[in-house]
Amino acid sequence: MDEVRVRDHQVWLDDVRPNPYADQLAVGFRLLRFSRVLELEYRAYSLEDSFELKRIALSVGMLIWMVFAALDISLVSGASLGGMLAVRVLVLALLLSCAWLILRRDLTHLLLPLSMVCILALGVGSALVVGIAHRVDPAYPYEGLLLVSMAAYFLVGLRLNQALMCALAVLVVYVAVELLARLPTARLINNVLFLSFGNLMGALGCYLLEFKSREHFLISRLMRVLADHDSLTGLHNRRSFNHHFERLWRQGMREQRRLALLICDIDHFKAYNDRYGHQAGDNVLQRVAQLLEEAARRPLDMSVRLGGEEFAVLLYDIGPEEARQRAEILRTGLEALNILHEGSDTAPRVTLSIGVACIAPDEQGVLSQLYEHADRALYEAKAFGRNQVVS
Ligand code: GH3
Ligand code: MG
Ligand code: MG
Repeated sequence: MDEVRVRDHQVWLDDVRPNPYADQLAVGFRLLRFSRVLELEYRAYSLEDSFELKRIALSVGMLIWMVFAALDISLVSGASLGGMLAVRVLVLALLLSCAWLILRRDLTHLLLPLSMVCILALGVGSALVVGIAHRVDPAYPYEGLLLVSMAAYFLVGLRLNQALMCALAVLVVYVAVELLARLPTARLINNVLFLSFGNLMGALGCYLLEFKSREHFLISRLMRVLADHDSLTGLHNRRSFNHHFERLWRQGMREQRRLALLICDIDHFKAYNDRYGHQAGDNVLQRVAQLLEEAARRPLDMSVRLGGEEFAVLLYDIGPEEARQRAEILRTGLEALNILHEGSDTAPRVTLSIGVACIAPDEQGVLSQLYEHADRALYEAKAFGRNQVVS
């Protein structure tokens, strides 16, 4: 049963490959590591994703820290209390400084180191407090250290290796402090075993959490790609085109740049399907899509399959003459592929008609104008005999 499920999953993934997210899901990530580019993307995502968590964890951490200070005052007295409170105040000051830097929000590159500093401050601080207390009272509770480790594993959005590093460092400091405090060996062994097993559970939980977080990241990104792209050609679909169009329109207005739209329609494509079959038709659509993709190489340009055998290329910061040239390159590019089309009245090969429009976005003009102009130009290209560019 399980094997069937795994196989279905694999078939589904193979269907949408090549795609970096699907590829990573297919090869797996048991060691909690993606390929280089995805790893960077995931880290940025997880940092953003865990910001709220860090904020809450920090506030809760400081609150608990102060509650324990009150407990110290009721449990311990004399010179030891002074030392313990000094450590508590020092750690609190450190936490407040980190909180101030974290809440500024613009220091994203410091977010991770700051979180680790907070955990280490809490952990090392707790170990010192426990060590000072154990010099006078070996029964003083040390279990608070486990709370700090749990926070590292589950609350501050650290990855497993970072959480593990912090928790182990705290454990080592704790052992050193207890040796200095001359805690009876049997007691020390008991405490260290308890803390180690607690850490083991925390690390296992943290592994599962990170694994699921990584899986969620890959699947949600993959879904987004699938929702924005046409499955046959891999080009953007109309939905993502509309979003991008609106964004570019606003950017063009701000930066005073022109936009050009090329609407392309394959000539006599119905006849092509009728003669060579639907599968051959699909292959033609894929080859046209490749040409279009090459025409929209700059970062803000976009090529899209509007539907059926109709495509568009949206170009940013371009004049009418250059836009027309780009359309001409596309048209001749398809001609040069020389895909035999004996059912065409226009030429013995597959050809493309293209309508071009260019506009400077402004407050008065409406976004749909550009589309309407390009569509009308395409209509004329068809009426004038196809296999041509009209602008
Ligand atoms: P024109 O030169 O005026 O554009 O004629 P046309 O035949 O290309 O235009 P028409 O709109 O009459 O036909 C479009 C055809 O495109 C009809 C349909 O069979 C085909 N088509 C639409 N989507 C697909 C697809 O995904 N795959 C294949 N193979 N064909 C498709
Ligand atoms: Mg057509
Ligand atoms: Mg059409």
